[in-house]
Amino acid sequence: MNQLVDGVWWSMPDLTTDRPVIGAIAGADATLMVDAGASPAHVGPFLDELRKQGAPPVRYVIYTHSHWDHVWGGSEIKARHQPVFIAHELTRDKVLAQSRLSWDDASLAERVRLGDVESFSLEHIKAEHPSRGQMVIVPPSVGFQKQLEIDLGGVRCLVEHVGGDHSPDSTLVYARERKVVFAGDAAYTAVSGLRHYTRQVIFQLLDHVLAFDAEMFVLSHTPAPLPREQMNALREILWRVATLTLDERRPEQEVVDQLTQADIPFPLSPEFVSELVDAFKSGAASHPKP
Ligand SMILES: [Zn+2]
Repeated sequence: MNQLVDGVWWSMPDLTTDRPVIGAIAGADATLMVDAGASPAHVGPFLDELRKQGAPPVRYVIYTHSHWDHVWGGSEIKARHQPVFIAHELTRDKVLAQSRLSWDDASLAERVRLGDVESFSLEHIKAEHPSRGQMVIVPPSVGFQKQLEIDLGGVRCLVEHVGGDHSPDSTLVYARERKVVFAGDAAYTAVSGLRHYTRQVIFQLLDHVLAFDAEMFVLSHTPAPLPREQMNALREILWRVATLTLDERRPEQEVVDQLTQADIPFPLSPEFVSELVDAFKSGAASHPKP
């Protein structure tokens, strides 16, 4: 667990089983957690650390969206702190449905076949949850439509539904006095089918996120939180790729060369640019012009 600013902590994401960031925001009276982690094994050490740091009890857990890696550690937090679990109503409905399903190997394989679970998640789920017979998925008890604000004692958290290509239920948490935005997976591509970005959707979302008076932006599967300068740079990169790929005949290599040679304060690999090119091309393909 790492401290981002006073009273705000984050855990590093881990590619091994695709663990996302877990976040915590503490006020004088209560702590709010952003996401519950992939499993009790994931969130347990984070909760131990929070206690060592002297954070107030965890009173609230926000699920940023319904994907398993952000939700399935909830039972461990519930057992230790009995917090209120809160999510957008779409997330609430999806997690409630997950909590009623069986997740044994055969059922899991069926969920993958139906497209409810991404095939790349299969081995990650099995590694995080080797036996799923007793697994408890905690549905939110509070659902909201647009936004709500929680006062933790001198620190207010705005919880807001933003949607996006990655998942329509995506929600962010903005810790006002700490000037931190936890954006979950909202700024990433869609994961089902083609990993696409829809131009209109992603830039509307990024501009909305950047409009918050925040200095740090936490994206759940990005190795470190992004200072504002880097968040701006990420938007600039996406904008350039989106613009360059409007001409469908332009070779991918040309886009990669232009971007990797540009003077942009963001760590940029050719592979990352290639993925962005594919994402914008797929986005255009999935939303053909009339
Ligand atoms: Zn996700």
